[in-house]
Amino acid sequence: MRKPFIAGNWKMNLTTREATALAKKLVESLAGVTQVEIGIAPVYTVLPAVAAVVRGSNVQLLAQNLFWVDSGAYTGEVSGPMLKDAGCSHVIVGHSERRQHFGETDESVNKKLKAAFASGLVPIFCVGETLAEREQGRTFAVVERQVKGGLQDIPATDAAKIVVAYEPVWAIGTGKTATPAQAQEVHAQIRSLLARLYGQELADQVRIQYGGSVKADNIAELMQQPDLDGALVGGASLKADSFTAIVRFQG
Ligand code: PEP
Repeated sequence: MRKPFIAGNWKMNLTTREATALAKKLVESLAGVTQVEIGIAPVYTVLPAVAAVVRGSNVQLLAQNLFWVDSGAYTGEVSGPMLKDAGCSHVIVGHSERRQHFGETDESVNKKLKAAFASGLVPIFCVGETLAEREQGRTFAVVERQVKGGLQDIPATDAAKIVVAYEPVWAIGTGKTATPAQAQEVHAQIRSLLARLYGQELADQVRIQYGGSVKADNIAELMQQPDLDGALVGGASLKADSFTAIVRFQG
């Protein structure tokens, strides 16, 4: 009942020429895929060019971040209305690289989630523990704090639209994927937390992506888990062949 959603996070990679070439290949190789929702998140500077390539296709345009004020004296920031104007339908919020390198907190993530909803963007809300937190047995305590903090004062009407991405920090860009059982355990915990916050019906609707070294050869096994509803893919989304194989995991 939850349509899988597979999104590529291109991070800080690709010039306009490279990004439009990759987007063109994906539009061709993914044409006709209807059983999986698809998105790509290029850097800000190439959004309009990539928007022109994916327009009318089944590949949606995502942004990697946003600021929570619509316009004004915030040098270097980009707002939700600007991302909508550039053709984005979704925005990644609270990626661990932003929490780690750019000081994002549960409070700033909460403001960004609210700003995304206010601009009509669907947020992909990232949560996940570090290796030290996992080794200390604090995985779920950390994820619970992140989910509750991020969703503070967000009404059910908005929360129902959210996509959560569980991305254990130790698995991102490291080649170490969580085992399907490790991922499923946290996904189920996130879903029951959503049920406590918003009720079971809403929790059953929300898609929870897994992220962390997803590749063509591990996606099918991960997707067999009942609470895994897709993937947020970093490195393997930068090549048309590997991202296509991941999206077409059902064959
Ligand atoms: C990510 O950036 O969200 C990610 C999961 O990266 P990778 O697939 O490279 O681990």
